[in-house]
Amino acid sequence: MRGRKACRKCKYIVDSKVSVCPVCGSRDFTSRWMGFIIVIDDSTRLKDLMNLEKEGMYAIRIL
Ligand SMILES: [Zn+2]
Repeated sequence: MRGRKACRKCKYIVDSKVSVCPVCGSRDFTSRWMGFIIVIDDSTRLKDLMNLEKEGMYAIRIL
């Protein structure tokens, strides 16, 4: 997962070139995060459970 960073606010994982989080609009990113989950379109229950808005990759833990 080199070259990826995670939004500190919503934990969404983006490419290091991205400057604004596509989920929450935050510009606060960190390259120090651990583990990730992939949320796909039909995992509505997981989205509800974790309060996620958009499919994609999310960090489990921000260091
Ligand atoms: Zn975000």
